[in-house]
Amino acid sequence: MGTFKGWVIDKGEAGQSLAFRDFDDADLMEGDVTVRVTHSTLNYKDGLALTGTSPVVRRFPMIPGIDFSGIVEASDHPDYKPGDAVVLTGWGVGETHLGAYAERARVKGDWLVPLPEGLTAEQAMAIGTAGYTAMLSRMALDAHGLTPAQGPAIVTGASGGVGSVAVALLARAGWHVIASTGRDGEADYLKGLGAAEILDRAELSKPGKPLGKERWAAGIDAVGSTTLANVLAQTRSDGAVAACGLAQGMDLPTSVAPFILRGVSLLGINSVTTPQPKRREAWTRLARELDLDTLARMTSRVRLEEVGRLGPEILAGRIRGRTVVEVG
Ligand code: NDP
Repeated sequence: MGTFKGWVIDKGEAGQSLAFRDFDDADLMEGDVTVRVTHSTLNYKDGLALTGTSPVVRRFPMIPGIDFSGIVEASDHPDYKPGDAVVLTGWGVGETHLGAYAERARVKGDWLVPLPEGLTAEQAMAIGTAGYTAMLSRMALDAHGLTPAQGPAIVTGASGGVGSVAVALLARAGWHVIASTGRDGEADYLKGLGAAEILDRAELSKPGKPLGKERWAAGIDAVGSTTLANVLAQTRSDGAVAACGLAQGMDLPTSVAPFILRGVSLLGINSVTTPQPKRREAWTRLARELDLDTLARMTSRVRLEEVGRLGPEILAGRIRGRTVVEVG
Protein backbone atom coordinates (compact mmCIF):
# COMPACT_ATOMS: atom_id res chain seq x y z
CA MET A 1 0.00 0.00 0.00
CA GLY A 2 1.14 3.53 -0.69
CA THR A 3 0.20 6.66 -2.53
CA PHE A 4 0.38 7.80 -6.13
CA LYS A 5 -0.04 11.13 -7.90
CA GLY A 6 -3.13 12.12 -9.80
CA TRP A 7 -5.75 14.75 -10.53
CA VAL A 8 -8.66 14.64 -8.11
CA ILE A 9 -12.03 16.37 -8.40
CA ASP A 10 -13.74 17.09 -5.09
CA LYS A 11 -17.12 18.63 -4.47
CA GLY A 12 -17.82 20.94 -1.55
CA GLU A 13 -20.28 23.67 -0.72
CA ALA A 14 -18.41 26.07 -3.01
CA GLY A 15 -18.80 23.60 -5.91
CA GLN A 16 -16.30 21.44 -7.74
CA SER A 17 -12.53 21.77 -7.16
CA LEU A 18 -9.64 20.19 -9.00
CA ALA A 19 -6.19 19.43 -7.52
CA PHE A 20 -3.07 17.48 -8.44
CA ARG A 21 -2.28 15.55 -5.29
CA ASP A 22 -1.36 12.27 -3.65
CA PHE A 23 -4.04 9.58 -3.69
CA ASP A 24 -4.09 6.55 -1.43
CA ASP A 25 -3.96 3.07 -2.98
CA ALA A 26 -6.44 1.96 -0.35
CA ASP A 27 -8.99 4.42 -1.78
CA LEU A 28 -8.95 2.91 -5.27
CA MET A 29 -12.28 1.37 -6.19
CA GLU A 30 -13.14 -2.27 -6.65
CA GLY A 31 -11.64 -4.07 -9.64
CA ASP A 32 -9.74 -7.24 -10.45
CA VAL A 33 -6.89 -5.59 -12.40
CA THR A 34 -4.50 -2.88 -11.17
CA VAL A 35 -2.73 -0.97 -13.93
CA ARG A 36 0.30 1.31 -13.95
CA VAL A 37 -1.03 4.00 -16.26
CA THR A 38 1.55 5.12 -18.83
CA HIS A 39 -0.62 7.29 -21.11
CA SER A 40 -4.00 8.94 -21.15
CA THR A 41 -5.55 11.54 -23.42
CA LEU A 42 -7.79 14.59 -23.59
CA ASN A 43 -11.32 14.11 -24.91
CA TYR A 44 -14.27 16.50 -25.01
CA LYS A 45 -15.86 14.58 -22.12
CA ASP A 46 -12.68 15.09 -20.09
CA GLY A 47 -13.14 18.81 -20.65
CA LEU A 48 -16.69 18.57 -19.29
CA ALA A 49 -15.45 16.64 -16.24
CA LEU A 50 -12.42 18.85 -15.50
CA THR A 51 -14.48 22.04 -15.65
CA GLY A 52 -17.72 20.69 -14.16
CA THR A 53 -19.56 22.25 -17.12
CA SER A 54 -21.90 19.30 -17.32
CA PRO A 55 -22.52 16.66 -14.67
CA VAL A 56 -20.46 13.83 -16.17
CA VAL A 57 -18.75 13.14 -12.82
CA ARG A 58 -21.19 11.31 -10.60
CA ARG A 59 -18.98 10.31 -7.66
CA PHE A 60 -16.63 12.35 -5.46
CA PRO A 61 -13.75 12.35 -5.00
CA MET A 62 -13.16 11.44 -8.64
CA ILE A 63 -9.98 10.93 -10.59
CA PRO A 64 -10.98 12.24 -14.05
CA GLY A 65 -9.71 10.82 -17.35
CA ILE A 66 -11.87 8.50 -19.46
CA ASP A 67 -9.19 6.43 -21.17
CA PHE A 68 -5.71 5.03 -20.58
CA SER A 69 -3.05 2.62 -21.73
CA GLY A 70 -0.67 0.99 -19.30
CA ILE A 71 0.92 -2.11 -17.84
CA VAL A 72 -0.85 -4.57 -15.57
CA GLU A 73 0.67 -4.56 -12.07
CA ALA A 74 -1.64 -7.10 -10.41
CA SER A 75 -4.53 -9.20 -11.70
CA ASP A 76 -7.13 -11.67 -10.48
CA HIS A 77 -8.65 -11.77 -13.97
CA PRO A 78 -7.94 -14.91 -16.03
CA ASP A 79 -7.13 -12.95 -19.22
CA TYR A 80 -4.49 -10.63 -17.71
CA LYS A 81 -1.22 -11.07 -15.82
CA PRO A 82 1.40 -8.62 -14.52
CA GLY A 83 3.38 -7.09 -17.36
CA ASP A 84 0.55 -7.23 -19.94
CA ALA A 85 0.01 -4.06 -21.96
CA VAL A 86 -3.63 -2.96 -21.93
CA VAL A 87 -5.98 -0.24 -23.16
CA LEU A 88 -9.18 1.07 -21.59
CA THR A 89 -11.86 3.36 -22.95
CA GLY A 90 -15.30 4.06 -21.54
CA TRP A 91 -17.29 2.03 -19.00
CA GLY A 92 -17.81 5.12 -16.84
CA VAL A 93 -14.12 5.41 -15.95
CA GLY A 94 -13.50 9.05 -14.99
CA GLU A 95 -17.27 9.47 -14.45
CA THR A 96 -18.51 6.89 -11.93
CA HIS A 97 -15.30 4.87 -11.49
CA LEU A 98 -11.91 6.40 -10.56
CA GLY A 99 -10.19 7.32 -13.79
CA ALA A 100 -7.08 7.73 -15.88
CA TYR A 101 -5.37 11.01 -14.88
CA ALA A 102 -3.24 9.28 -12.26
CA GLU A 103 -0.30 6.95 -12.04
CA ARG A 104 -2.46 3.96 -11.08
CA ALA A 105 -5.94 2.65 -11.87
CA ARG A 106 -7.93 -0.33 -10.67
CA VAL A 107 -10.66 -1.55 -13.01
CA LYS A 108 -12.62 -4.60 -14.08
CA GLY A 109 -10.58 -6.81 -16.38
CA ASP A 110 -13.69 -7.21 -18.53
CA TRP A 111 -13.41 -3.52 -19.45
CA LEU A 112 -9.86 -3.85 -20.82
CA VAL A 113 -8.59 -4.79 -24.24
CA PRO A 114 -5.04 -6.01 -24.85
CA LEU A 115 -2.85 -3.36 -26.50
CA PRO A 116 -3.51 -4.07 -30.19
CA GLU A 117 -0.62 -5.58 -32.09
CA GLY A 118 1.16 -2.93 -34.16
CA LEU A 119 0.44 -0.03 -31.80
CA THR A 120 2.55 1.37 -28.97
CA ALA A 121 0.86 2.42 -25.73
CA GLU A 122 1.34 6.04 -26.81
CA GLN A 123 -0.18 5.46 -30.26
CA ALA A 124 -3.16 3.70 -28.66
CA MET A 125 -3.83 6.83 -26.65
CA ALA A 126 -3.14 9.12 -29.62
CA ILE A 127 -6.18 7.27 -30.95
CA GLY A 128 -7.95 7.15 -27.56
CA THR A 129 -11.70 7.31 -27.05
CA ALA A 130 -12.06 9.89 -29.82
CA GLY A 131 -10.29 7.81 -32.47
CA TYR A 132 -11.97 4.63 -31.36
CA THR A 133 -15.33 6.42 -31.70
CA ALA A 134 -14.36 7.53 -35.20
CA MET A 135 -13.72 3.87 -36.05
CA LEU A 136 -17.06 2.77 -34.57
CA SER A 137 -18.68 5.43 -36.77
CA ARG A 138 -16.80 4.19 -39.82
CA MET A 139 -17.86 0.60 -39.03
CA ALA A 140 -21.51 1.72 -38.78
CA LEU A 141 -21.31 3.30 -42.26
CA ASP A 142 -19.66 0.13 -43.62
CA ALA A 143 -22.34 -2.05 -42.03
CA HIS A 144 -24.95 0.13 -43.74
CA GLY A 145 -23.36 -0.91 -47.05
CA LEU A 146 -21.96 2.50 -47.97
CA THR A 147 -18.87 2.74 -50.16
CA PRO A 148 -16.92 5.64 -51.67
CA ALA A 149 -18.58 4.87 -55.03
CA GLN A 150 -21.85 6.28 -53.67
CA GLY A 151 -20.53 9.82 -53.20
CA PRO A 152 -18.60 12.02 -50.79
CA ALA A 153 -18.51 11.71 -46.99
CA ILE A 154 -18.78 14.71 -44.66
CA VAL A 155 -17.04 14.93 -41.29
CA THR A 156 -18.14 17.67 -38.87
CA GLY A 157 -15.97 19.02 -36.07
CA ALA A 158 -13.17 17.96 -38.39
CA SER A 159 -10.25 19.64 -36.59
CA GLY A 160 -11.17 18.01 -33.27
CA GLY A 161 -10.20 14.55 -32.03
CA VAL A 162 -13.04 12.42 -33.41
CA GLY A 163 -13.10 14.53 -36.56
CA SER A 164 -9.37 14.30 -37.32
CA VAL A 165 -9.31 10.51 -36.99
CA ALA A 166 -12.56 10.22 -38.98
CA VAL A 167 -11.09 12.30 -41.83
CA ALA A 168 -7.95 10.13 -41.87
CA LEU A 169 -9.85 6.81 -41.76
CA LEU A 170 -12.36 7.74 -44.46
CA ALA A 171 -9.72 9.24 -46.76
CA ARG A 172 -7.51 6.17 -46.44
CA ALA A 173 -10.50 4.01 -47.41
CA GLY A 174 -10.91 6.01 -50.62
CA TRP A 175 -13.72 8.40 -49.65
CA HIS A 176 -13.85 11.94 -51.03
CA VAL A 177 -13.90 13.63 -47.62
CA ILE A 178 -15.55 17.00 -47.04
CA ALA A 179 -14.15 18.34 -43.76
CA SER A 180 -16.41 20.85 -42.00
CA THR A 181 -14.55 23.17 -39.66
CA GLY A 182 -14.90 26.57 -38.04
CA ARG A 183 -11.15 27.13 -38.10
CA ASP A 184 -9.90 29.04 -41.17
CA GLY A 185 -6.31 28.25 -40.35
CA GLU A 186 -6.70 24.46 -40.38
CA ALA A 187 -7.35 23.83 -44.10
CA ASP A 188 -3.77 22.65 -44.71
CA TYR A 189 -3.86 20.48 -41.59
CA LEU A 190 -7.09 18.81 -42.72
CA LYS A 191 -5.86 18.33 -46.29
CA GLY A 192 -2.73 16.75 -44.80
CA LEU A 193 -4.99 14.20 -43.09
CA GLY A 194 -6.64 13.43 -46.43
CA ALA A 195 -9.58 15.86 -46.72
CA ALA A 196 -10.46 16.66 -50.34
CA GLU A 197 -12.63 19.71 -49.56
CA ILE A 198 -13.07 22.11 -46.66
CA LEU A 199 -16.54 23.39 -45.73
CA ASP A 200 -17.02 26.38 -43.43
CA ARG A 201 -19.04 25.07 -40.51
CA ALA A 202 -21.07 28.31 -40.50
CA GLU A 203 -22.86 26.86 -43.57
CA LEU A 204 -24.24 24.10 -41.36
CA SER A 205 -24.62 25.62 -37.92
CA LYS A 206 -27.68 27.83 -38.53
CA PRO A 207 -31.23 26.48 -38.94
CA GLY A 208 -31.78 25.32 -42.55
CA LYS A 209 -34.43 23.74 -44.76
CA PRO A 210 -35.89 20.26 -44.06
CA LEU A 211 -34.35 19.09 -47.35
CA GLY A 212 -31.48 20.61 -49.30
CA LYS A 213 -29.34 19.77 -52.30
CA GLU A 214 -27.98 16.20 -52.00
CA ARG A 215 -24.29 16.77 -51.29
CA TRP A 216 -22.90 13.65 -49.57
CA ALA A 217 -23.70 9.95 -49.24
CA ALA A 218 -22.28 9.49 -45.75
CA GLY A 219 -21.39 11.49 -42.69
CA ILE A 220 -19.66 11.30 -39.32
CA ASP A 221 -21.04 14.01 -37.06
CA ALA A 222 -19.29 15.04 -33.84
CA VAL A 223 -21.34 18.22 -33.43
CA GLY A 224 -25.10 17.47 -33.13
CA SER A 225 -27.75 20.23 -33.01
CA THR A 226 -28.56 22.23 -36.17
CA THR A 227 -25.33 21.00 -37.77
CA LEU A 228 -26.54 17.40 -37.70
CA ALA A 229 -29.99 18.52 -38.89
CA ASN A 230 -28.41 20.24 -41.91
CA VAL A 231 -26.11 17.28 -42.59
CA LEU A 232 -29.16 14.98 -42.68
CA ALA A 233 -31.07 17.40 -44.93
CA GLN A 234 -28.23 17.33 -47.48
CA THR A 235 -27.54 13.58 -47.44
CA ARG A 236 -28.17 11.68 -50.68
CA SER A 237 -30.97 9.12 -51.00
CA ASP A 238 -30.28 5.95 -49.00
CA GLY A 239 -27.21 7.50 -47.41
CA ALA A 240 -26.44 7.44 -43.68
CA VAL A 241 -24.97 9.64 -40.99
CA ALA A 242 -23.25 8.31 -37.86
CA ALA A 243 -24.08 10.64 -34.94
CA CYS A 244 -21.49 10.50 -32.18
CA GLY A 245 -21.15 13.97 -30.68
CA LEU A 246 -22.72 17.10 -29.26
CA ALA A 247 -20.04 19.81 -29.52
CA GLN A 248 -22.65 22.30 -30.78
CA GLY A 249 -25.49 20.94 -28.65
CA MET A 250 -27.50 17.96 -27.51
CA ASP A 251 -30.63 19.05 -29.43
CA LEU A 252 -31.55 17.81 -32.90
CA PRO A 253 -33.96 20.24 -34.57
CA THR A 254 -34.71 18.15 -37.65
CA SER A 255 -37.80 16.83 -39.44
CA VAL A 256 -38.69 13.38 -40.73
CA ALA A 257 -38.21 14.58 -44.33
CA PRO A 258 -34.70 13.12 -44.89
CA PHE A 259 -35.84 9.78 -43.47
CA ILE A 260 -39.17 9.33 -45.26
CA LEU A 261 -38.46 11.14 -48.54
CA ARG A 262 -34.84 10.07 -49.08
CA GLY A 263 -34.47 6.94 -46.98
CA VAL A 264 -31.59 8.53 -45.08
CA SER A 265 -30.51 6.65 -41.93
CA LEU A 266 -29.26 8.09 -38.66
CA LEU A 267 -26.82 5.71 -36.98
CA GLY A 268 -26.23 6.21 -33.26
CA ILE A 269 -22.75 5.63 -31.83
CA ASN A 270 -22.12 4.91 -28.15
CA SER A 271 -18.48 4.07 -27.42
CA VAL A 272 -18.85 3.72 -23.65
CA THR A 273 -20.44 0.28 -23.31
CA THR A 274 -19.62 -1.29 -26.66
CA PRO A 275 -19.48 -5.07 -26.14
CA GLN A 276 -16.04 -6.73 -26.23
CA PRO A 277 -16.19 -8.38 -29.71
CA LYS A 278 -17.01 -5.10 -31.47
CA ARG A 279 -14.55 -3.22 -29.22
CA ARG A 280 -11.72 -5.57 -30.20
CA GLU A 281 -12.70 -5.47 -33.86
CA ALA A 282 -12.53 -1.65 -33.77
CA TRP A 283 -9.06 -1.68 -32.19
CA THR A 284 -7.79 -4.33 -34.61
CA ARG A 285 -9.05 -2.27 -37.52
CA LEU A 286 -7.51 0.92 -36.11
CA ALA A 287 -4.13 -0.80 -35.86
CA ARG A 288 -4.48 -2.01 -39.46
CA GLU A 289 -6.20 0.87 -41.20
CA LEU A 290 -5.00 4.10 -39.60
CA ASP A 291 -1.80 5.43 -41.11
CA LEU A 292 0.58 5.97 -38.17
CA ASP A 293 2.38 8.91 -39.78
CA THR A 294 -0.98 10.63 -40.21
CA LEU A 295 -1.81 9.82 -36.58
CA ALA A 296 1.49 11.41 -35.51
CA ARG A 297 0.63 14.57 -37.49
CA MET A 298 -2.59 15.07 -35.53
CA THR A 299 -1.09 14.35 -32.09
CA SER A 300 0.43 16.62 -29.45
CA ARG A 301 1.72 15.67 -26.01
CA VAL A 302 1.35 17.08 -22.51
CA ARG A 303 2.60 15.89 -19.13
CA LEU A 304 0.06 14.65 -16.59
CA GLU A 305 0.73 17.75 -14.45
CA GLU A 306 -0.43 20.00 -17.34
CA VAL A 307 -3.75 18.36 -18.23
CA GLY A 308 -5.70 20.12 -15.47
CA ARG A 309 -5.57 23.44 -17.34
CA LEU A 310 -6.79 22.02 -20.67
CA GLY A 311 -10.48 21.45 -19.85
CA PRO A 312 -11.61 24.94 -20.92
CA GLU A 313 -9.37 24.75 -24.00
CA ILE A 314 -11.02 21.66 -25.50
CA LEU A 315 -14.53 22.92 -24.70
CA ALA A 316 -13.72 26.16 -26.52
CA GLY A 317 -12.65 24.18 -29.62
CA ARG A 318 -9.04 25.37 -29.27
CA ILE A 319 -7.43 21.91 -29.19
CA ARG A 320 -6.44 20.54 -32.58
CA GLY A 321 -6.56 16.80 -33.25
CA ARG A 322 -5.52 14.52 -30.42
CA THR A 323 -3.61 15.18 -27.20
CA VAL A 324 -1.69 12.40 -25.46
CA VAL A 325 -1.18 12.78 -21.72
CA GLU A 326 2.17 11.29 -20.69
CA VAL A 327 1.71 9.74 -17.27
CA GLY A 328 4.53 7.35 -16.47
P1 NDP B 1 -13.01 18.00 -29.76
O1 NDP B 1 -13.24 19.20 -28.94
O2 NDP B 1 -11.62 17.55 -30.02
O3 NDP B 1 -13.74 18.19 -31.17
C1 NDP B 1 -14.97 18.83 -31.29
C2 NDP B 1 -14.95 19.73 -32.51
O4 NDP B 1 -16.27 20.18 -32.77
C3 NDP B 1 -14.14 21.00 -32.32
O5 NDP B 1 -12.78 20.79 -32.53
C4 NDP B 1 -14.76 21.89 -33.38
O6 NDP B 1 -14.24 21.54 -34.65
C5 NDP B 1 -16.23 21.47 -33.34
N1 NDP B 1 -17.04 22.37 -32.53
C6 NDP B 1 -16.80 22.76 -31.24
N2 NDP B 1 -17.75 23.60 -30.81
C7 NDP B 1 -18.63 23.73 -31.85
C8 NDP B 1 -19.81 24.49 -32.04
N3 NDP B 1 -20.32 25.26 -31.08
N4 NDP B 1 -20.44 24.42 -33.23
C9 NDP B 1 -19.96 23.63 -34.22
N5 NDP B 1 -18.82 22.91 -34.10
C10 NDP B 1 -18.17 22.96 -32.94
O7 NDP B 1 -13.85 16.83 -29.08
P2 NDP B 1 -13.78 15.24 -29.34
O8 NDP B 1 -13.35 15.00 -30.73
O9 NDP B 1 -13.11 14.60 -28.19
O10 NDP B 1 -15.34 14.88 -29.22
C11 NDP B 1 -16.24 15.34 -30.21
C12 NDP B 1 -17.66 15.05 -29.78
O11 NDP B 1 -17.89 13.64 -29.79
C13 NDP B 1 -17.98 15.52 -28.36
O12 NDP B 1 -19.29 16.03 -28.33
C14 NDP B 1 -17.89 14.25 -27.55
O13 NDP B 1 -18.66 14.31 -26.38
C15 NDP B 1 -18.40 13.23 -28.53
N6 NDP B 1 -17.94 11.89 -28.27
C16 NDP B 1 -18.89 10.91 -28.19
C17 NDP B 1 -18.54 9.62 -28.00
C18 NDP B 1 -19.60 8.58 -28.04
O14 NDP B 1 -19.43 7.50 -27.46
N7 NDP B 1 -20.70 8.82 -28.70
C19 NDP B 1 -17.16 9.23 -27.74
C20 NDP B 1 -16.20 10.31 -27.95
C21 NDP B 1 -16.61 11.60 -28.17
P3 NDP B 1 -13.82 22.65 -35.75
O15 NDP B 1 -13.00 23.67 -35.00
O16 NDP B 1 -13.05 21.89 -36.76
O17 NDP B 1 -15.10 23.23 -36.27
